[in-house]
Amino acid sequence: MACAQALPLTAKGEVKDLGVVHGTTPKALEAARHRWHDCCDRLGRIARLPVGPRWAGLLAGASAMGAGAYAVAGRVAPKNLLEGMRHWVKFACYKGSKTAAYQLLLWVGDLTWRACPALHALVRPATFLASVVELGYHTIAELQYVWDSAHHVVGPVAALKAALSQAGVRGGPARWEMADGSGKPLQQPLLEPEGVRNAWLLSARRRTDLVRLGKKSRRFRAGLLDVDCEGAAAFRQRLKLPVDRAAALHAAHCGDVIVNQQAKHWNGGVAACPCGHPEETRQHLFWECPRGCRCGQVSWTGSPSNP
Ligand SMILES: [Zn+2]
Repeated sequence: MACAQALPLTAKGEVKDLGVVHGTTPKALEAARHRWHDCCDRLGRIARLPVGPRWAGLLAGASAMGAGAYAVAGRVAPKNLLEGMRHWVKFACYKGSKTAAYQLLLWVGDLTWRACPALHALVRPATFLASVVELGYHTIAELQYVWDSAHHVVGPVAALKAALSQAGVRGGPARWEMADGSGKPLQQPLLEPEGVRNAWLLSARRRTDLVRLGKKSRRFRAGLLDVDCEGAAAFRQRLKLPVDRAAALHAAHCGDVIVNQQAKHWNGGVAACPCGHPEETRQHLFWECPRGCRCGQVSWTGSPSNP
């Protein structure tokens, strides 16, 4: 809009480009909000499809893109909106219990990052600004100037700044590093190949998500950061489990197994396992219980140990 006003063009209240609403007038904001509502409707429909989380995630990513909702390269997406949308994506992609942690579905589960609104809000402005530099429209120094200016609260630089901060990253257009000092900084991220940049951003967001999850819930104690996130999905596939057992293992990996050791606080005090063992813990349920419940009978070589 600012561009349109700078040129002798008649500026309308809103511009829709490939389904993305641009502009900052109340009318444009209203239209943008409609996009997010459309997106929620679509996610609600995806939730009713009888497909697993991987396919639902692919559908969610594709359909949200179509709705223009995740095209957040050009404006700051409010943090609580993104968090809210993450819950919608979980609702659409995961048919398990509400206790599964979204972060684990994303980082150790089958959900593709492309279905995640917060990751789109992070990756897309970075990709956009990298292409701006590559095509020679602006230099890194000019982006740095906008970055440092307090006046630029809209636009892609502001969008990237906000998304990086939410991902626990500090720095500017010329260097990124984790605010907690972990990992290696990325020098000149906008000049790096897209794959390198995206991988760095995903791992930054993953770390921040997992640290937050560990702080929020005692269920996910220390050690969450040591989980082999890349390996988890491949590991499940290698087992070649029947679909029900694969789903049970997926649920266990995503923190979605409530045992009576926890449930005793709300189930009237029953901590015992139905098999008679005095306390149903995860250790008991998966490794010791003679009931053959859930994936208790699955050995790690993939064949039922007790067919
Ligand atoms: Zn038992």
